[in-house]
Amino acid sequence: MKVLKFGGSSLADAERYLRVKDICLDTHATSGAAVVLSAPKGVTNALSLLCDEASSGKDYGELFAKLNMVLFGILDDLKVTLPEFEDAALAKYIQNVLNELNQHLEGFALLRCAPESVVAKILSIGEYLSVNIFSQILTTLGTKNQIIDPAELILAEGDYLDSIADVAVSKARFSEVDSSGEVVLIMPGFVAVNAEGEKVTLGRNGSDYSAAILAACIDAECCEIWTDVDGVYNADPNQVDGAVLLDKLTYQEAMELSYFGAKVLHPKTIGPIAQHHIPCLIRNTLNPAAPGTLISNEASTKWTSVKGISHLDDMTMFNVAGPGMKGMVGMASRVFEVMSNANISISLITQSSSEYSISFCIHSKDASRAQDLLEDSFALELANNLLDPIEVRHDLAIVTLVGDGMRHSQGLAAKFFSSLAQARVNNVAIAQGSSERSISTVIESSKAKKAVKVVHQNFFSNLHAIDAFLVGCGTVGKELLDQISRQQAILLERGISLKIYGIANSRKLLLKAGGIDLSEDWSAQLNDSEQSLSVEQLQSFVMRNSLVNPVVIDCTSSSIIAELYVELMNSGFHVVTPNKKANTASYAYYQQLRETAQSTNRQFLYETTVGAGLPVIDNLQKLIYAGDELQRFEGILSGSLSFVFGKLDEGLSLSQATEIAKKNGFTEPDPRDDLSGTDVARKLLIMAREADLKLELEDIQIEPVLPSHFDSSGSIDEFMSKLPELDALYADKVNAAKEEGTVLRYVGSISKGKCVVSIQAVGEDHPLYVIKEGENALAIHSNYYQPIPYVIRGYGAGAAVTAAGVFADVLRTMPWKQDV
Ligand code: ADP
Ligand code: ASP
Ligand code: MG
Repeated sequence: MKVLKFGGSSLADAERYLRVKDICLDTHATSGAAVVLSAPKGVTNALSLLCDEASSGKDYGELFAKLNMVLFGILDDLKVTLPEFEDAALAKYIQNVLNELNQHLEGFALLRCAPESVVAKILSIGEYLSVNIFSQILTTLGTKNQIIDPAELILAEGDYLDSIADVAVSKARFSEVDSSGEVVLIMPGFVAVNAEGEKVTLGRNGSDYSAAILAACIDAECCEIWTDVDGVYNADPNQVDGAVLLDKLTYQEAMELSYFGAKVLHPKTIGPIAQHHIPCLIRNTLNPAAPGTLISNEASTKWTSVKGISHLDDMTMFNVAGPGMKGMVGMASRVFEVMSNANISISLITQSSSEYSISFCIHSKDASRAQDLLEDSFALELANNLLDPIEVRHDLAIVTLVGDGMRHSQGLAAKFFSSLAQARVNNVAIAQGSSERSISTVIESSKAKKAVKVVHQNFFSNLHAIDAFLVGCGTVGKELLDQISRQQAILLERGISLKIYGIANSRKLLLKAGGIDLSEDWSAQLNDSEQSLSVEQLQSFVMRNSLVNPVVIDCTSSSIIAELYVELMNSGFHVVTPNKKANTASYAYYQQLRETAQSTNRQFLYETTVGAGLPVIDNLQKLIYAGDELQRFEGILSGSLSFVFGKLDEGLSLSQATEIAKKNGFTEPDPRDDLSGTDVARKLLIMAREADLKLELEDIQIEPVLPSHFDSSGSIDEFMSKLPELDALYADKVNAAKEEGTVLRYVGSISKGKCVVSIQAVGEDHPLYVIKEGENALAIHSNYYQPIPYVIRGYGAGAAVTAAGVFADVLRTMPWKQDV
């Protein structure tokens, strides 16, 4: 005979009860079936809430009415699909149960308390309703069935709400039950009886345990737990994308995974089935064709090392410490005795080797009771300062990595903890089971989902996430989004999930939980958005969505955004930008950015601030790290001015050349930033600072394209309409140069610690003579590169190359995949 257990998720409505019936009849026909049922989905939660609300004097009328509706709804729907379904007696039964429930709740409301012995009876209502409905379905179809009552058969001890079964005694009681397979046995899960004959429950989610007890009591050939997923995965499939289904688990592995939070199986389930060597299958009611996960003595040959990762929420940690602890014999046992006498179960323990402190985690629901008890029993030691005041930390979670094969592999702990570091998760305490079957860490509860996600990513998948937020959607920003949109699928094939979760302009911020679909009209959505950009907004979004590798891409030229970088890195974001404002602010801020990047383990990447897409910064940094020193630098650093001065050679006027450059997207949004020489000065300053020169922007000597007598105030359009006033001046300069056989170039140079930006006339033999059309050319004269300089040359302006450079920096934020 097989035991089949169906959870609440399999019993959500009439249609699911009928699916369960199909599965049950299939098994009944081949091997005989004993069915254990949970309450219909949500019913136990509703009953528990009703008890809480009534006993705290709240109005529970609405909830009660909802429960009523759900239960009668199932009956009505069954009647529609199965017209011959006899529902009158059942309806009467349900009504009686609800009346009785109401009387209890009124009592709770009057007394302002809910005795656990009565709560146990109330919580079990759902399971009894479930078996009565199911039995009536089978009877309607002419299948012989019998409801067996665990409140007569399964002896248990412990709390009314969390009892443990005595399988040996229960088994003897089952000898009366007909387990030949002739009739379908139907048993409500979750319920048992204590030695006093009172109804008790086996703990929330305890129907799995009931199935295991029944399997042991009737010597079932197999115990099948039917739920709403295909089996046990290596992480909760409803929380982790790409969780992998496991084919087999040993009893011990299943125990460890469920103990540390894998809700698919109640941890107490393993005891009876392991002891009686009963194989257990986890299967999906919604997909009966799937083979499921087998839990037995057999280890998987497919997954040999780490099997899974799970987490337990709502944990509180106690730390008992003090000078009197050292060497005080029996201290630990006294602490744990207090907990065990109060029936409080401890999930994890660590003790410092100095024996100066003991830390342990318990479920938060027991925390205040535990604290009172500890303070009472150690009152003397506390009063005499032998113990420090007992430290209590709330809102914690335990994240655990599980697998039998972990014993034989090195480096798993290192990989586990470096994954947590990558997600910037602090370990409050760490424990490794002596069986080496699991490693656990205690962390802040708010970080648990993120931690599970990143650990899963590093151990089980080749997929690495970049969670990006774009600030500024001008020419470069828009181009970058286009490039990302085109590349997303290709990157995914290569194991990189690059998603844009947020887009902001100077007024609005658009955030989307699953990532913004770039093929849709995001700009209309941005316009409709009600929120505006702030670091707090971004940070709370990242927390809410458990994003692992958040990156802010600043494609503005705003100083205000540049001033946020330190705060952004402190909040966990990498920063990627073509914006020069941060690196050319005060030297103190420049240094603070680097220190913050280092201390927060975040990346600050700005390759495109000099030479757009050309690899300038990276190469310069590598030279300097390798011990080289900058002697002299000379170059055309502005794509826009390379273009404008090239056009002057061809006979175009300054205003015409500027107009075309602006149209082609070669200039900064405001062309005055280029023509004033400040933009080149900023690039020069960035280069100089990379080469260890501690200069400020004011130290750069600038000869602007716009002479000082020219009034360049007003809007961009006003400025552009005034620009022709300078055409004659530049025509003269160009002609004078031509007569000398030279051309004009806008050159930045660093020499002997001084930075100069100026218009230079260069002859045919000068390397910068041919640099035009938006090209950049940089000649780095260093100790290693002399007399021939290190030269970098190529397009140094334009949205496409700049965006591609930013894109490359974004990809550099991806943590290295580690292999073990
Ligand atoms: P039932 O109502 O059938 O008892 P539960 O809700 O108690 O179902 O358990 C099934 C749920 O367990 C799944 O929907 C899934 O979200 C969760 N779960 C947590 N960890 C795991 C895991 N490692 N593998 C499969 N499911 C898991
Ligand atoms: N119905 C009970 C609960 O929700 C038992 C179970 O479903 O396993 O906790
Ligand atoms: Mg369950």
